[in-house]
Amino acid sequence: MKTNFKLVATAAAGLEAVVGREIRDLGYDCQVENGRVRFDGDLSAIIKSNLWLRAADRIKIIVGQFPASTFEELFQGVYRLDWEHYLPLGCKFPISKAKCVKSKLHNEPSVQAISKKAVVKKLQKHFHRPEGVPLQETGAEFKIEVSILKDVATVFIDTTGSSLFKRGYRVEKGGAPIKENMAAAILLLSNWYPDKPLIDPTCGSGTFCIEAAMIARKIAPGLKRSFAFEEWNWVDKTLVQQARQEAQATIVQDLVLDISGYDIDGRMIDIAKKNAVAAGVDSDIHFKQMRLQDLKTDKINGVILSNPPYGERLLNDDAIAKLYQEMGETFSPLVTWSKFILTSDEQFETRYGRLADKKRKLYNGTLKVDLYQFFGKRVKRMIPEEGD
Ligand code: SAH
Repeated sequence: MKTNFKLVATAAAGLEAVVGREIRDLGYDCQVENGRVRFDGDLSAIIKSNLWLRAADRIKIIVGQFPASTFEELFQGVYRLDWEHYLPLGCKFPISKAKCVKSKLHNEPSVQAISKKAVVKKLQKHFHRPEGVPLQETGAEFKIEVSILKDVATVFIDTTGSSLFKRGYRVEKGGAPIKENMAAAILLLSNWYPDKPLIDPTCGSGTFCIEAAMIARKIAPGLKRSFAFEEWNWVDKTLVQQARQEAQATIVQDLVLDISGYDIDGRMIDIAKKNAVAAGVDSDIHFKQMRLQDLKTDKINGVILSNPPYGERLLNDDAIAKLYQEMGETFSPLVTWSKFILTSDEQFETRYGRLADKKRKLYNGTLKVDLYQFFGKRVKRMIPEEGD
């Protein structure tokens, strides 16, 4: 079986650089591209990237890449790949996804069917099985994906299983949760550090607060879930266990955090609390039912992160305009605080009453959103001098 892999970590548009930084922090060199980051590594790279990357969607192995403008080229190209180094006899190997962009081959179901035939034929030959008899597929699953871009096919095996944003702590989600990996990426992009106060005044199910506490405590985001590769027979289970034990030992125990989550809806606060318990960070976060209009604080140099209602998802347009205006009025006295607000509303700045210092375009699923960033004016705490 293989010992070295060409890997990609897929990421939502706009978040590739954050994933690249995380991969470098794990000790791997990488190339950042549109929608993905490429890196090379051994089995432990597969294990660590799945366990530790907070902003990525999935980790996939690149099995190979070749030109494919006809079905014959596709068949031969897939057939030539070294499937015997990945797929044991008896495993399930669905071609779970085919994507064709700007290519002569564009019928995705046919691309799936032809690719499947080629893998089957290769395995029949390798394992000396008769050609007419279908292979039994009852074992562990290896999901294969074929993507054809400008007549070049790339063939992947997914190592992750359900997407990495599913951390395993979400008990309930409420109406419009932000994905966990998007929340983590925004925190990593922000100027928040664990020694600063953090407030999410529209916390919903608590995602920003929970991800912040996990970052601060260095809790690996994948510690509470499993991955597709863990079922594979050639994956050394002791390596996986070791990585999980190391991650467990890395958790910072002695730490005092100042993280608060508020929401107008008491049911959301109950959900947020349950999620925080499941994530093991409930003692780090102060959740309370409160309107954002009532937010006041004497603390300084903190960070506000908010994903307020937007679009037609939760409120109508007039209510949104009013909410954003009140948000601007409520936050404006907090001059030393930085604010990061994620919304799809293109009139946000007018309604909020201030132009952002910086904007970053992101995608929440398929919805285009902007992260409006307002940086706080940093002040040192004044120590009264004697005689004052
Ligand atoms: N990021 C959250 C989702 C936020 S959805 C998550 O991951 O779950 C927007 C939230 O804003 C909703 O939960 C809604 O109840 C809350 N909200 C709406 N108006 C509010 C107000 N005036 N004050 C506080 N919260 C409000």
